[in-house]
Parts: sequence; C-alpha cells; structure tokens
Amino acid sequence: MGLTVLSGPSGVGKGTVVAAVRRLFPDVWVSVSATTRLPRPGETEGVEYHFVDRDHFVRMAKDGELVEHAEFAGNWYGTPRAPLERRLTTGLPALLEIELQGARQVRASMPSARFVFLTPPSWEELVRRLTGRGTEPPEVIERRLDRARVELAAEKEFDAVVVNDDVEAAAARLVSLMTDS
Ligand code: 5GP
Repeated sequence: MGLTVLSGPSGVGKGTVVAAVRRLFPDVWVSVSATTRLPRPGETEGVEYHFVDRDHFVRMAKDGELVEHAEFAGNWYGTPRAPLERRLTTGLPALLEIELQGARQVRASMPSARFVFLTPPSWEELVRRLTGRGTEPPEVIERRLDRARVELAAEKEFDAVVVNDDVEAAAARLVSLMTDS
C-alpha cells in the first residue's frame, strides 16, 4: 500500500485510467493538484484541480505547501502537501497523477513510493488522442507533443510500465500495482 505515482505523456489517457481505477477501487484516494491552467469546459474547482492564479501558486511553492511542482506547457502544476501527508498516515493507498519532472522530485523525496509509467500503444495513437481531444489550440498540442517525446524516453526510470491499449485492463493493472505490498 502507500503512495503510487502515475506518470506518462499528456494524451496517453492518465485521467481516463484514473477514472476507471475509481470504479474498480472506490476507496482509492487521488490527490487534487493545484494548477495555474484555466479550467477546461466541464472541470470543477476542487474536483479535477484547485485552480489558482500565479501569485497564489508561487506563494504555495515558496511556503513549502507543495510536495513537488513543475511547469508544463506554459502552466504550473503541483501536489498539495497537507492532504497527501494526512492520507499517508492512514497507511491506505494514495495516487498521484503527475508529469515527469514532478515524478522525479517525488522519487527524490519519497523513494519508497511506487512509480508507474503509462505509455500509449504507439506514437501515432498518442498523436491521435492529443489531437482528438479538441480542447486545445494547435500550438498547445504541438507543445504537448514535443514534451511527450521527451517523457516517453524516461520510461526506464519507472518501476513498472503499463501500456494503455485497453483502459479497463490498464486500470486493473494499476490497481494491482497499488495494492501489492
Ligand atoms: P492537464 O493540463 O492535461 O490537466 O495536465 C497536464 C500535465 O500535468 C499532465 O501530464 C498531468 O499529469 C500533469 N499534472 C497534473 N497535476 C500535476 C501536479 O500536481 N504536478 C505535476 N508535476 N504534474 C501534474
């Protein structure tokens, strides 16, 4: 049990797999990150993210309120410390869904966590998923694809790699990794 960190390139389907994990394993606890990104249609404050402005984010980082933080495609993202620490004291599983730089910071500060990399079945499929989301302008998609190239090369830094060709199977694999002691 304890902490599992799920990482992988933008567009690989981390959010979809985490939603399937919640259905399979209703007791899972998933950290709600702070971000300076604007909400996408349908996103709600406190559910997908805590949406904060840059000044607020900088203050949180400076005051040590974030376990890790990183800039991604022009916005800042970070994991609030207090709720995660509260969860970890229960000994029950906790899940972070974060990008590569953040995962590396957690690896440095919490080396006993389990690090899982979610990867697409192919590069073409990742491009299709990122483009097909339809919520981002082309220059943002380009930036995310550039970043995805870098992130895919980091797969070997992780304890386990899960291929997201079937969401339910990937979620089941992640649950078994999270609950494996
Ligand atoms: P999106 O804007 O698509 O919701 O997220 C962009 C990227 O930021 C994704 O790869 C997502 O996993 C990552 N991310 C979300 N929350 C955090 C966080 O708290 N810290 C870090 N380092 N990355 C995060």
